[in-house]
Amino acid sequence: METKSEHIAIAIDGPSGAGKSTLARMAARHFGYIYVDTGALYRTVALFVLRSGADTKDAAAVSALLPGIHVEMRYDGAGVQRMLLNGEDVTDLIRTPEVSMAASDVSALPPVRAFLLDTQRDMAERYDVVMDGRDIGTVVLPEARVKIFLTASARERARRRFRELRERGVETDFETVLQEIELRDRNDSSREIAPLRPAPDAVICDTTEHDLDGSFELIREMIEAKR
Ligand code: C5P
Repeated sequence: METKSEHIAIAIDGPSGAGKSTLARMAARHFGYIYVDTGALYRTVALFVLRSGADTKDAAAVSALLPGIHVEMRYDGAGVQRMLLNGEDVTDLIRTPEVSMAASDVSALPPVRAFLLDTQRDMAERYDVVMDGRDIGTVVLPEARVKIFLTASARERARRRFRELRERGVETDFETVLQEIELRDRNDSSREIAPLRPAPDAVICDTTEHDLDGSFELIREMIEAKR
């Protein structure tokens, strides 16, 4: 299947901590595509809502803020995606557990999803992309050439996320990380709009038993086979 544009799109969906961003970034580098981290868009909107003091679950309050939000994705010289919120580079501010939860909240609101849809599709129109998220294969790019649903057990995902947070110097403990992962899973899977689920034509890839290199090998082969 082709995307509407001439470009190739690889969609990688799955729950948080499954390794999507790391593997998507590796795949993008390997195949020479642009890596688009769509979670960063929701995180950027969430940061704005938190700063404004509004309730991140309040659809009316969050909707009222959207006209004041301009979200932009840029790529620096090293190919790293930078997020601009009304011109301010917030890339390093959107990875906290607080913003994660707020992103999960605002992403359940239909106006927020509609607000970010064009930005995502626009990237796939302009470039060959590896795009990761929750609804890329189902909603954003239903005609993506390759669709991968990446998953792993909640405990394994929490272990990975805990390690990553610690390496970044974020103070937390394992049980808290596990609870947050389970809560976000429930939020993301049970919401009415764009719930987290594999597209019917997605290949399911469970990385619980695989290390990073092993997981990348699986993905690389899937992409290679369909490219
Ligand atoms: O992938 P990441 O953990 O950065 O995403 C943050 C939150 O944004 C997720 O918990 C999810 O609720 C939401 N999200 C989404 N759709 C996407 C990407 C992220 O709903 N395509």
